[in-house]
Amino acid sequence: MPEAERETLETDVVIVGAGPAGLSCALRLAKLIEQRNAANSSGPALLQENIYILEKAGEIGAHCLSGAVLDPRSLRELVPDFESKGAPLESPVTDDGVHFLTSSGQWKLPVTPPFLQNRGNYIVSVNKLAKWLGSLVESAGVSLFPGFAGSGILYDGKRVAGIRTDDKGVDKNGNPKSNFQPGYDLRAKVTVFAEGTRGSLTKQLVLEQGLDRGVNPQAYSLGVKELWNIPADRVRRGQVIHTAGWPLNSRQFGGGFIYALEDTLLSVGLVAGLDSEDPRFDVHNRFQQFKTHPFVKGLLEGGEMLRYGAKTIPEGGYFSIPATATDGALIVGDAGGFLNAQRLKGIHLAIKTGMLAAETIFEALVREDWSEASLKQFEAKWRASWVHDELWKVRNYRQGFEHGFWPGVLHAGLQMLTGGRGLRARYPLRRDHEHMKHLDEIPTESAAKIKPDGVLTFDKLSDVYRSGTHHEEDQPCHLKIADFDICNNRCTREYGNPCQHFCPAAVYEMEESADGSGRQLKINASNCVHCKTCDIADPYEIITWVSPEGGGGPRFERM
Ligand code: SF4
Repeated sequence: MPEAERETLETDVVIVGAGPAGLSCALRLAKLIEQRNAANSSGPALLQENIYILEKAGEIGAHCLSGAVLDPRSLRELVPDFESKGAPLESPVTDDGVHFLTSSGQWKLPVTPPFLQNRGNYIVSVNKLAKWLGSLVESAGVSLFPGFAGSGILYDGKRVAGIRTDDKGVDKNGNPKSNFQPGYDLRAKVTVFAEGTRGSLTKQLVLEQGLDRGVNPQAYSLGVKELWNIPADRVRRGQVIHTAGWPLNSRQFGGGFIYALEDTLLSVGLVAGLDSEDPRFDVHNRFQQFKTHPFVKGLLEGGEMLRYGAKTIPEGGYFSIPATATDGALIVGDAGGFLNAQRLKGIHLAIKTGMLAAETIFEALVREDWSEASLKQFEAKWRASWVHDELWKVRNYRQGFEHGFWPGVLHAGLQMLTGGRGLRARYPLRRDHEHMKHLDEIPTESAAKIKPDGVLTFDKLSDVYRSGTHHEEDQPCHLKIADFDICNNRCTREYGNPCQHFCPAAVYEMEESADGSGRQLKINASNCVHCKTCDIADPYEIITWVSPEGGGGPRFERM
């Protein structure tokens, strides 16, 4: 397609992603500008409407998914009266418990470890939280653009100069359709990358600028989750249950969660590391197995599954955070790896880093100095804040589980005694897919897959249906495969095409070719729930997830 003529819009700030980090950044910045304008301060004129937020979902919050138990510390800093302002808090946490599961039994830990104690925290739907923050941001005068994905980074030399939005109305062969609209070039003094986990533009920025030089690679888990309506008298609203053990084996990192949003509404899910040795490891299927455990089944039986979703979680911690400020740009929230894997929490860190980015940008705009040195103040700010203190205490946590669950538990205990250190100052980490073994090294599947019954357990397509996922069918495939020959031959031989297993939405299928020449990869891109697992777990690193046309994707209502 010939290069289209594009409109260029100049503004102060472009934020990519309207999740908790991006929205908190916009809200804090808008408030600081409002206060300054009310005080009639001298200096450059600043306007809230010159803060732009791009969101690839058609509606704010539709792509936001989390467990989720919220530590309200940063929300209180952002919106001190958040309760009276109608923050959508499902329930304060009323009860905590950690259960260890065997294949048929379970025992509850007599004491909940301090890092999993949730008194004072709230069960929330991050989808609803983002919608609510979005309404505050809109009232504060910020310019919100839902349904617009970022398709590329604009540069002036090495300096990040903004974002190009996606072209709309392009067919699957890359040709313009009758409704074609070229994307905009949004040029900004500062661009904030708040795309969430494994953001596609953030990945590109980090790579192009070498921002991860000297840091550990990021480690990810995949979380899959369903929302269930259940009969009364099984749980109490506000109850939080975490599980360890079955159906994961002792070499796999992760566990289950069950949160009672209401007496009859449960959020239930399984989180598992993407560093499994077994190329057939299938987190979605293992989650279905989790629900068949008598303890979990006893809660769900007779109920109805309402919604489904999946997302990856950046768990590498402190030593996996890349440089978060560069010339013209900042990285906040999950996109920067700000997540406490020990506490299973990241929303509070997303909000706080968004706020600190806003304070940095505000000072830069007032000084009329948005140079790299000026933006580097963001690094100084988060390192001087409680974000640093919280992450420093668990800096070696996730790495300790690289050799299995029990060595990890031992390490975690040792690290708690030594303020996060353990036996070494900094534990290394390998990239998740480097753990994957060839089929001939691991001939037996680590756990047989279960056959879903459609009542308690579901196949991937039934779950995708309940994620509300919809994409325009006639558009270029947003899963870019660098070399199909590797998929159809080498990967089949060496790993048995793990994409068929690790994708929680049945996007990848191996099917017999029409000419009988063998099995070939088929991509059902419209099923994609935007979890980014394939971009992370593919052992040859030949799958690149890019944003599909804005407005498409899942619809994570109440998730
Ligand atoms: Fe997740 Fe990739 Fe499957 Fe989409 S195609 S659902 S990003 S694993």
